[in-house]
Amino acid sequence: MSARILVVDDIEANVRLLEAKLTAEYYDVFSAHDGPSALAAAAEIHPDIILLDVMMPGLDGFEVCRRLKADSATRHIPVVLVTALDGRQDRLTGLKAGADDFLNKPIDDVALFARVRSLTRLKLVIDELRQREASGRRIGVIEDVASRLGGGGGRIIIADDHERQGRRIADELAAEHRPVIEADPERALMAARGRADLLIVNIASSSFDGLRLAAQVRSDESTRHLPILIVYEPTDRQRALKGLEIGVNDLIAKPIDPEELSARARTLIRQKRYTDFLRNNLDNSLELAVTDPLTGLHNRRYMNGQLSGLVRRAALGGDPVATLLVDIDHFKRINDSFGHDVGDEVLREFAVRLATNVRAIDLPCRTGGEEFVVVMPDTPLAAAEIVAERLRLHVSGSPFHVAGVEDLMHVTISVGVACTLGEGDTPEALLKRSDEAVYEAKAKGRNTVIARAA
Ligand code: GH3
Ligand code: MG
Ligand code: MG
Repeated sequence: MSARILVVDDIEANVRLLEAKLTAEYYDVFSAHDGPSALAAAAEIHPDIILLDVMMPGLDGFEVCRRLKADSATRHIPVVLVTALDGRQDRLTGLKAGADDFLNKPIDDVALFARVRSLTRLKLVIDELRQREASGRRIGVIEDVASRLGGGGGRIIIADDHERQGRRIADELAAEHRPVIEADPERALMAARGRADLLIVNIASSSFDGLRLAAQVRSDESTRHLPILIVYEPTDRQRALKGLEIGVNDLIAKPIDPEELSARARTLIRQKRYTDFLRNNLDNSLELAVTDPLTGLHNRRYMNGQLSGLVRRAALGGDPVATLLVDIDHFKRINDSFGHDVGDEVLREFAVRLATNVRAIDLPCRTGGEEFVVVMPDTPLAAAEIVAERLRLHVSGSPFHVAGVEDLMHVTISVGVACTLGEGDTPEALLKRSDEAVYEAKAKGRNTVIARAA
């Protein structure tokens, strides 16, 4: 798979070296020698990947990366920072600047091709999803949500039959994620088919073939999109490279640097969430009839369809489903004072705040004029109440600024929270409980969250 790669380094010899390695693998290579020309080249040639030197006079790599990630035209281009071998602090700064990955100097070929291949594949998927989504009005809202997806709290499966090694990896990841160790490949595969965010395979495992497991995971319909990171002995480069051919996303050599491990895990998980998110939204957008044109959120029809399936499952003993019914307080006054168009702007701004304050799996919908519903799968009442309260504060806490209107607008919401009660529950009954809770919130003086237990 070929790709256009922009190499940025102030030292000509470094550029030449990378150019030679990448051209030999049939990549299209472009180069830039300082920050400003890198930014210009990125905007002009739209590369698939940028390999960016950190140490450059003037605009350094961090700043270039920050600017690339701040611009919606270049935000989605993966950036690999090239740092000094002992540049731990640099790597952390780089990740904070939004870098997708990093490579140590001097650049090792296995690592270089691992990053380039995995990021090219990712970029391809993102491009395709973006392209199909670009015609929809929701691209702004979606990108906004996507850019806030984090890489923490992941469910990570570690397939490793070496007790101490597996435990060490798990311990290092446990601060940020929920790792589980599986010494048996069948069980690892089963766990991967559940809800996993990352699979780490030690290909030095002696009782099973780690590459075979990776290949199985890659070809299985239900785990096709699960990122795979393999751990290998430096003496086993050939099999590590083989892993890349199979479709492994990333590699890490032993002895494992804990910081690198955690950075790689975070990046892989964030990328997975981003593509899952785009993919989900894409599936949904296939039918424009399910989108509210003013805000780009789902409409009532879509909500009804989703909710009935979820409530049916909950009624049969599945995961609970919660609903937030959100009504803007005294919205009529905004229309009356500033006009209908300003009212529309407030609705749009509110929709963005709503969509960015719920999880990727939650469904924010506009169900009426200034009435919204968030459907929250797999969420008990207490958790939904916390989200509602956070949303309430996020709306009342910072006023809305609408173009053309001098004054900042203070907006508040009333939220009714309800959750499925199990057997016999229906979507209508669930929404009715949310609705009654909103009514109660209004009666209590508005800017209030009320949760109805039954
Ligand atoms: P409460 O605190 O009791 O909810 O008061 P409220 O003024 O928000 O509620 P009410 O139901 O009395 O008024 C809702 C207003 O929302 C009336 C309607 O004209 C306005 N509205 C409905 N849809 C739209 C829309 O798409 N755009 C704009 N700008 N206004 C809308
Ligand atoms: Mg330099
Ligand atoms: Mg209202």
